[in-house]
Amino acid sequence: MAATTPQGRLQGKNAIITGAGGGIGLETSILFAREGANVLMADVSEPALAKALAKVKEVVPTALRVESIRCDVSKESDVQAMVESQDSWGGTDVIFNNAGIMHANDADAIDTPEKIWDLTHNINVKGVWFGSKHAVLSLRRHKKARGSIINTASVVALVGAATPQLAYTASKGAVLAMTRELAIVHAREGFRFNALCPAPLNTPLLQDWLGDDQAKRFRREVHFPTGRFGEPIEQAHAVVFLASDESSFVNGTDFVVDGGMTKAY
Ligand code: NAD
Repeated sequence: MAATTPQGRLQGKNAIITGAGGGIGLETSILFAREGANVLMADVSEPALAKALAKVKEVVPTALRVESIRCDVSKESDVQAMVESQDSWGGTDVIFNNAGIMHANDADAIDTPEKIWDLTHNINVKGVWFGSKHAVLSLRRHKKARGSIINTASVVALVGAATPQLAYTASKGAVLAMTRELAIVHAREGFRFNALCPAPLNTPLLQDWLGDDQAKRFRREVHFPTGRFGEPIEQAHAVVFLASDESSFVNGTDFVVDGGMTKAY
């Protein structure tokens, strides 16, 4: 589970990571910096972002360029400003549209409040659309022959959750469908789109949602052949692969990183 020896897989690439203030986004920022990328870390929370940026600089002192920008991915003007701020770096090569929420009041069809549905979809779905849109515009503006866009979906886009979170599940299904279509539409421009599908993993998002509810935890954990949730770094390694040229023929996938969870019965 530890980080592997860096091999310069992302050398010279300019990358943007949203939701970089914690969890998967922070671990991915660290691995991207280790692999030689120039990294722009983005998050809606300024305190989380400041702490995360300091962490990356501390653990990767050799990082070439790591900066941060506050961005609410549900606001197109923020996303546009974030992507355009990399114009002076030579344009964006990779964007990891990772920011997402799973609200504590997200429940089943009966009990999910409409405002939680809208909030979830504004961040999880519109955020990915805006990030994808401005990535394509930037790649074209800078006449890039290739680009990699990775959008975070979830295993709940593939299998139904017995502990309901309807707004979240529907939002991740939308991310998967959107990513597939983007992959087909932009393939001949050299722009690849893949959806990362993590299973539950140990990040603040999951811990906050589980709280102290042991029954809820058990309902989730029991599905894992590995007997444990995943760790953010295990997702981050997959994202490095999808961002790198090693995955040049990987396009439009539902890239499942789940310890076998979705294959278990
Ligand atoms: P996390 O809560 O640890 O981190 C998410 C980050 O996104 C936070 O720093 C938060 O401030 C930021 N964020 C929230 N709203 C934002 C907005 N509007 N604009 C910009 N940033 C915003 O979560 P995580 O577990 O690392 O999740 C990352 C992604 O992985 C999410 O899309 C999530 O849905 C997905 N995911 C997580 C799990 C899991 O079990 N943790 C499983 C499957 C998928």
